[in-house]
Amino acid sequence: MTKEKEMAKVQKIEDLPGVGPAMVDKLGEAGYKDVMSIAAASVGELRDATGMGEAAAKKLIMAAQDSCDMGFETGTEVMKKRELVGKLTTGSSEFNKILGGGVESQAITELYGKFAAGKTQLTHQLSVNVQLPVSEGGLDGKALYIDTEGTFRPERINQMASALNLDTEEALANIMVGKAYNSDHQMLLAEKAGEMAKTENIKLIVVDSLMGHFRSEYVGRGTLADRQQKLNRHLATLGKIADSRNLPVVITNQVMAQPGLLFGDPTAPIGGHIVGHKSTFRLYLRKGKADKRVAKLVDSPHLPEAECLFSITENGVSD
Ligand code: ADP
Ligand code: MG
Repeated sequence: MTKEKEMAKVQKIEDLPGVGPAMVDKLGEAGYKDVMSIAAASVGELRDATGMGEAAAKKLIMAAQDSCDMGFETGTEVMKKRELVGKLTTGSSEFNKILGGGVESQAITELYGKFAAGKTQLTHQLSVNVQLPVSEGGLDGKALYIDTEGTFRPERINQMASALNLDTEEALANIMVGKAYNSDHQMLLAEKAGEMAKTENIKLIVVDSLMGHFRSEYVGRGTLADRQQKLNRHLATLGKIADSRNLPVVITNQVMAQPGLLFGDPTAPIGGHIVGHKSTFRLYLRKGKADKRVAKLVDSPHLPEAECLFSITENGVSD
């Protein structure tokens, strides 16, 4: 970056051209609290949220993008950043294999599946595994767990940590749990997570589940666009943390039945296309026989579609 461009970088919304105090308030009320969230917004979203004209919205987004380095970078720069990607073990070597080594940092990985498919178990296991040294498949850091369904269980962490010969008290102390009471609170927790990741050695962020609150709050309210807009912002926040802090973000998603569908998978993750587009990796989990589970990599930018078997036992996730 050139010196002038560095100077031109603005950190606060009020420093963006054409943004006065009244606009700062309006943007804040609509949930746009930092320059990044504006940079990630669409023209329509900003226009609806603030009542500004289309041209003004476009200008504002471009100014925000400029100050967030959202322009071009060379392939070499991209490669350099890719070299820093960490891979977090799932606890199953078969599962790791279909992921090309493990759950990647600098990415959002979506685990979707029906009730009891193992989504929550896997996020617990990853919260323990992240604490392992890199040589053992961990990322040598702490986990931050946003729990929207009240299903985080310290007892389960104890079992999984013991199975790995980790100190159970330490393992629990290394997981920060934020219980989200509604979708607004969930979004706030994600923003806080970004702040915390700057000072704490956080190497994993979990949101279990992503859509629970959004789904129940927006049911039958005819405000689907509003929901998708918030969701879009929430995922942008998470994606930005994954990128800037070089950590994996893992989100879970329930599937809903699509009874009208005659061909293909009768279930699909909820949240619509936004979740799909913002997740780098999508994994479909389903129950097999007894403690067996099937994981299918459905979407990845550089890996083939693949399926594997793994187990969930008292000791946690294994082959
Ligand atoms: P979801 O995909 O709905 O989040 P979970 O991850 O909560 O599903 O999976 C629940 C399943 O995990 C249970 O039905 C059970 O099969 C398994 N499970 C949970 N706890 C244990 C345990 N202590 N020992 C063995 N299996 C367990
Ligand atoms: Mg669950």
